[in-house]
Amino acid sequence: MSEEIEEVIEATEEVSLEIIPKFHGELHSLDIGGVPFNIRFQDQLFVEGDECDGVCHGAREEIEISSRMAGHRQARTLFHEIIHACFVTGGISQILKEDVEEAIVQCLEYKLWPIVDFRPEIKDRLEW
Ligand SMILES: [Zn+2]
Repeated sequence: MSEEIEEVIEATEEVSLEIIPKFHGELHSLDIGGVPFNIRFQDQLFVEGDECDGVCHGAREEIEISSRMAGHRQARTLFHEIIHACFVTGGISQILKEDVEEAIVQCLEYKLWPIVDFRPEIKDRLEW
């Protein structure tokens, strides 16, 4: 792994963990890297004809999450989409192919979510 990518991953970790405590209560927008992203919960969510759990629309600064899932799964999906949003606001999305970005985002989600999920001071705020 290049030093540049390691720096991006470190920066994303810091940003993501700072954002998590703001997950409580009504959630309509999040400041992600200085950009206010609208957060919308949808009964059913489709991307290019396929039903999905969540999507980050970088160009229109919006994250959509399917509200059909249990709250905990919604929180984890939101966490995943926030990482995508960090890549958008950090200029990383523009230099990565879509499948490469998805692989990195999934890796960060799988490695970071257990850390976030098991910290009681964060977990308490995830239960909306
Ligand atoms: Zn993704």
